[in-house]
Amino acid sequence: EDEVLIIGSVLDLRGKPVSKVMTPIQDVFTLSMDSVLDKETVTKILSQGYSRIPVCAADDPMNFVNMLLVKQLIAYDSDTSLPVKCFDLTPLPTTGNDGARPDTSCLDILNFFQEGKSHLALISNSQGGALGVITLEDVIEELIGEEIIDE
Ligand code: ADP
Repeated sequence: EDEVLIIGSVLDLRGKPVSKVMTPIQDVFTLSMDSVLDKETVTKILSQGYSRIPVCAADDPMNFVNMLLVKQLIAYDSDTSLPVKCFDLTPLPTTGNDGARPDTSCLDILNFFQEGKSHLALISNSQGGALGVITLEDVIEELIGEEIIDE
């Protein structure tokens, strides 16, 4: 029966907007370009357990352009307390020039993820304000109709 359910979910992807599946921006763990990565902040980042953290401009909390890959902190000494902007940040992917829209379909975002730029994308409104993030895992959960329990 699982096969039938999954085939049904594949067909549903085209009609399902990313806004239904994304993690809303108020629930996203983010940093600012000016955030200082001291011991306390690094501990907080590690305890969240996310592998990618959207980074907003220092002067605009809704303007995200980069992300910090948490694996970069493996060799980081938090006693140096560097601000986020000193790290080698990764562009935060947008599907198209001004980002994925809430009505972008899950099928389109899956195709975007398949292009290999990233497995996390930002969803923005037409003014460029961030609404949420979506990852490959969110789409796969839709496909299998069950939550994936992180290791
Ligand atoms: P990770 O590898 O960081 O665990 P996944 O791609 O497996 O991320 O996504 C797991 C869930 O966490 C998804 O629902 C995704 O939308 C959400 N997510 C990813 N990054 C963040 C973040 N920085 N803050 C909050 N939620 C996030």
